[in-house]
Amino acid sequence: SPQIVWLRRDLRLADQPALHAAAQAGPVVPVFILDDERPKGDDDRTYGGAHRWWLHHSLESLSRGFGRHNARIVLRKGDSVSVLAGLAHELEAEAVHANRHYEPWWREAEEELKDALPDGTRLCLHDGNYLMPPGTATTGSGDPYKIYTPFYRAMLEIMPPRDELPVPSTISQPSDMPESDALADWDLLPTSPNWATQMEDFWTVGEDAAHERLGWWADHVAEYEDGRNLPSVDQTSQMSPHLHWGEISPVTIWHALKDKRSDGWKTFESELIWRDYAQNIVYQFPDYPRETYRDAIDDTKLWRNPNRGHIIQEELEAWQMGRTGYPIVDAGMRQLWALGWMHNRVRMIAASFLIKHLLIDWRHGERWFWDTLVDGDYASNGTNWQWVAGTGVDSNMFPRIMAPLKQSEKFDAAGYIRKWVPELADLPDGEIHDPTDLCRPADYPEKIISHKEGRERALEAYRAMKED
Ligand code: FAD
Repeated sequence: SPQIVWLRRDLRLADQPALHAAAQAGPVVPVFILDDERPKGDDDRTYGGAHRWWLHHSLESLSRGFGRHNARIVLRKGDSVSVLAGLAHELEAEAVHANRHYEPWWREAEEELKDALPDGTRLCLHDGNYLMPPGTATTGSGDPYKIYTPFYRAMLEIMPPRDELPVPSTISQPSDMPESDALADWDLLPTSPNWATQMEDFWTVGEDAAHERLGWWADHVAEYEDGRNLPSVDQTSQMSPHLHWGEISPVTIWHALKDKRSDGWKTFESELIWRDYAQNIVYQFPDYPRETYRDAIDDTKLWRNPNRGHIIQEELEAWQMGRTGYPIVDAGMRQLWALGWMHNRVRMIAASFLIKHLLIDWRHGERWFWDTLVDGDYASNGTNWQWVAGTGVDSNMFPRIMAPLKQSEKFDAAGYIRKWVPELADLPDGEIHDPTDLCRPADYPEKIISHKEGRERALEAYRAMKED
């Protein structure tokens, strides 16, 4: 009898535990539901613009993947639980298979689904999208970790991850497959203006592209140790959107690279473990991407509030648009807008600038990233914003203020700035990180605030908050 596979951020055929189990049990009905209701809640987590663009192309690619097995996927719109319960009823399905997702709205849906399915339809939840399911690595007393380094060590102790699963050799389907929406009718792509043109040129979306990228990365991972902090050379994997959408699993990546015994590989592995760590944090604290978790931080006192003064609102917008007068920050924010992706080193610098130099609550940055990143991830984004802000359960980073101009020089960002801030392209290396008033082109803004002033204001606000 039919096996429904509920697809979410696991848009692949290889190492797909839910699909693998379903294909062994009977004819398969893979379903993707565009659910704009469940993620809404009081903290709207419906897909951002860049998410929608990626999703459209990823579903197209997945349809081609199933097509190669003479199978197709069913697209539906609506509330996930009702749609699945309806389909299970209509098909008299034996089971609904899904890989667990840990965002709070998905955990809730998985719980509700247990009761909503008709008698005779089982819910089979699998683990598929992390090296280890959250909660696997625990302290001696069985508690989950809050701090990255001990989490990392514990993960190394319990590695390797599970074995990789092959693409099912056959994917049979029932003869009376349910109707599907047409992807084009979902209007996931921007039309006018089409802000995604550079994204179209830059990314190849989907499972095949993810594997191709992995092949390329296998030849470059050894350079990661030296190159990963240099935005001008881009020596990182750029696999984050493929991982976010589950076009490839971290388990597949781990097994493909495990024999590359270089320092680069060890560091890269530690980044994959960061991804698991972020999910491990959100598993423990589901509202982490929107709640400050450090008692010593008083949100009501520390931040300048953009809703309470148009100057602060203008500063937030200048940051969003890449017009802060800090070339490295502006280059990053413009790369983000153009590609839906930003280099990790620059994400840290840009986030720190918003939080500390502008003293704007980290949540405004987190939301902007959510809307503009193609890899915008509830757990990774929230955890990294809190980490930079020093407002979370791990580091006390607030008083450590990054110097954006020094960072730009240190990590040799001249080429990166020339690419993303074309007004500055003609400046020599000695000027480009911090253009003086004499050489600054008329169409490039002055600094919103000097580094010294921004730094002192942030430290003063921190001191005042603590003394209160
Ligand atoms: P690589 O350097 O090649 O790393 C390999 C993979 O490891 C990445 O694809 C990613 O899946 C994972 N990874 C690497 N660094 C981290 C990290 N610090 N935390 C969690 N996972 C990591 N990453 C996201 O995937 N989604 C986000 O929404 C996101 N928001 C961020 C916000 C801020 C403020 C900061 C500082 C970082 C954020 N990151 C986020 C983490 C990191 O910047 C990106 O994962 C990385 O830049 C993606 O590029 P890459 O694939 O080339 O990474």
